[in-house]
Amino acid sequence: MRANPITPTIDFDRDGIQHGFLRLPYSRNDSAWGAVMIPITQFKSGEGSTALLTGGNHGDEYEGPTALLNFAARDRIDDIRGRIIIVPAMNYPAFQAGTRVSPIDSLNLNRIFPGRPNGSVTEVIADYFSHTLVPMADYVLDIHSGGKTLDFLPFAASHILDDKDQQQRCEAAASAFGAPYRLQMLEIDATGLYDTQVEAYGKVFVTTELGGGGTTSPESIRIAKRGVNNFLIHAGILDGTLQEPERDTICLDMPDFRCYLFCEHSGLVEPCVALGDPVREGEPMARIHSIERTAVPAAEYLAPRDGVVIARHVPSRVQIGDCLFVIGEIM
Ligand SMILES: [Zn+2]
Repeated sequence: MRANPITPTIDFDRDGIQHGFLRLPYSRNDSAWGAVMIPITQFKSGEGSTALLTGGNHGDEYEGPTALLNFAARDRIDDIRGRIIIVPAMNYPAFQAGTRVSPIDSLNLNRIFPGRPNGSVTEVIADYFSHTLVPMADYVLDIHSGGKTLDFLPFAASHILDDKDQQQRCEAAASAFGAPYRLQMLEIDATGLYDTQVEAYGKVFVTTELGGGGTTSPESIRIAKRGVNNFLIHAGILDGTLQEPERDTICLDMPDFRCYLFCEHSGLVEPCVALGDPVREGEPMARIHSIERTAVPAAEYLAPRDGVVIARHVPSRVQIGDCLFVIGEIM
């Protein structure tokens, strides 16, 4: 038997609305028998599919937590058939600290799946999702945005999968989310991702990037809230009709690793293109200025392929190795 130390304070089998915690024992200097208390909400009404909705996988991304805290505060259940499990901030210690990775063990939750039941705090959280929450779910939505060092066009994404039927079901759910853009995503490194773990179970999985810069906007929050509702309606769990985006969704692809432009200098970024701009291979995307001395020629970064700018580095100071831009191709 697995011995993950997390105890839920809610009963996953009980009908109704429950608000509680995933209690993860965390003994430390200021609390000998203390715990990390990860907020969780469940809506359950009779038989039906289960949706697992998460935000705060990275602690400095706020569209997910904001939309999910809003949804979790609803007091209606008569329009729900099945079960909705909501964890607004998966990596809760990182969310509390406003940082991408956990301040407790410096781990990035989205790089350590499937996790370990007897590991550090972040590994235990990953293990609990891998072996308890995800197996209960049919539909899984994980809401990301760029955090403090990236800014994205708002998109819902799915991956290319070996199981083409599953891939098609993921694409349909990403499409139903109703973001202004939809992306077939190519990951820099899929090892240890929550995405890969959920997809390996054969679940319908949608991820997003809805903005970034360590903040939100009325528009990005509107997209996230609409997406949560649409995802649940698409899953057949929430009554209602899909709310269409204001204009037709633009479908993007990432056909190869030339979609990524990494920085080989440190300095100050002078952008030549903005999010959403079309670019052609060889066109300047940014100039990187030395901040050590004046009159050093700026390093020019050229577009590695044709496409549309779907992500950019923030803030304006850049370090060697940073991701400067991501380019998508309109399908
Ligand atoms: Zn993220």
